Amino acid sequence: MPTDTEKEYLIRALEVFKRKILVISTDFSILAVNGHFNGMQEKEIVGAKCYEVLYNLSFPCEGCPAEEVKLIGKPVAISRQTQYTGLKNPSCKYSYPICSEKNMEAIVILDFEIPTLEGLEEQLRYSNAFLKNLILSAVDGIIAADRQGKILMFNEAASEICGYHENEAVNHINIREIYTEKDAAYDIMAKLRENNGKLEAYKVDVRHKDGTPIPISLNAAIIYEGKEEVATIGFFHDMREKIRMKKELEKTQIQLLQAEKMASLGKLAAGVAHQINNPLGGIILFAKLMMEEYDLPETAIEDLQRILRDAQRCSDTVKELLEFARQPRQNIRLNDMNTALSRTLFLLENQTLFHNIEIIKDFSEDLPGIPADIRQINHLFMNIILNAAEAMEGKGKLTVKTRFCAGNEFICIEIADTGPGIPDEVLSHIFEPFFTTKEAGKGTGLGLSLVYGIVENHGGRITARSKPGEGTAFLIELPVNPKHFKGEKDER
Ligand code: ADP
Ligand code: MG
Repeated sequence: MPTDTEKEYLIRALEVFKRKILVISTDFSILAVNGHFNGMQEKEIVGAKCYEVLYNLSFPCEGCPAEEVKLIGKPVAISRQTQYTGLKNPSCKYSYPICSEKNMEAIVILDFEIPTLEGLEEQLRYSNAFLKNLILSAVDGIIAADRQGKILMFNEAASEICGYHENEAVNHINIREIYTEKDAAYDIMAKLRENNGKLEAYKVDVRHKDGTPIPISLNAAIIYEGKEEVATIGFFHDMREKIRMKKELEKTQIQLLQAEKMASLGKLAAGVAHQINNPLGGIILFAKLMMEEYDLPETAIEDLQRILRDAQRCSDTVKELLEFARQPRQNIRLNDMNTALSRTLFLLENQTLFHNIEIIKDFSEDLPGIPADIRQINHLFMNIILNAAEAMEGKGKLTVKTRFCAGNEFICIEIADTGPGIPDEVLSHIFEPFFTTKEAGKGTGLGLSLVYGIVENHGGRITARSKPGEGTAFLIELPVNPKHFKGEKDER
């Protein structure tokens, strides 16, 4: 047996012992404890049940090591990791029986509190940091707000969408200010309450700090504590890219449709042209024969001449039609578009129609040559420039601009006039064959459909921009490295 002094030291040692020691009876009542814990003094806890004091339970913990000590009468050590997962789990690690000769008098429990709490704190810190990282690095904007709408949480993606830094938003901005519509936040709350606190793929616009509206698909939820609403959390998915892609797809579909339409119209035109060509040849031939072989009165000759003139015009139209429908043999060479434009302009400038038209050349100096059939290209420029001059009725400004759009490997040619412009309902038809607004005899309506075909052949794109009263601009984009040419290549 230890002496009194030894006992005294042992007691003091227990007091300073870093690990806490609890002595309980076999019915879990605390008999003694070293040091104080949970803010309670020793005398307050002695006599109470250990599970109440440690874990606030009204019954012994599941898998309690003391329980096992009682059963087997030997020390028990628990090393399960799950000990630290929550306060309600038993976190007593070591239990030792104190036995008299016959009975187990008490049980000593070691490592029940300090390691547990330390572990829990560490666990908590870790999981907090993990959660924070998770939220911060989420692809969607995550914004949480309290019941009054004050922002509590604002991740990086939310900053990108809204333009506010986390510090500007948290505690400073109300969630109501995030949306473009004044009542959007109220509407969202109402919808959330209608749907058991959940909202999925709700379309709404968020206002960026600079005022730009950003289309969003919002998933949101009310956070409850018990039955009480304490906060809301929203996942903001930026829809700009998706909308842009949808528009792009629609545009491509329209272009495809247009190309399809042009191709079938081309075939139709070729068929009609061939059908007309033969009888037309007959009309011209017999009209000429009549003039030469009969001694006709002057008036009859005049009538026949009229027939010949009109038949000739028909024949010209048919030629243009065939040109339009033909898959031409192409003569592809590297050509400089600035030179091609200059030549076409030079040819046209001297015509009376152009005398009162101011021509502005804005040519890029670093325009690369592109593989093209120069005959077709000249035809293309000629048609567009003639249309512009006709639209301006010989008076106005013609601007011809060339640029190298390095990013997408295209060269851009813009031909703009200061004419009357084209109303929307006309604009959507100008590339169709036979579409003309000019009076009979003045326009065939084939010019722009030829232009369209030529641009297509070169793997390019053509668009017209116009508003009534604001002139018209044609934008032609031709690739520097066309992947393929339509039509047959001339190998000569
Ligand atoms: P055409 O010149 O024989 O009428 P096009 O195919 O060349 O046939 O042009 C079709 C139509 O497009 C024209 O009739 C005209 O209405 C419209 N158009 C073309 N270019 C212009 C322009 N620069 N300004 C106004 N309208 C234009
Ligand atoms: Mg024309």
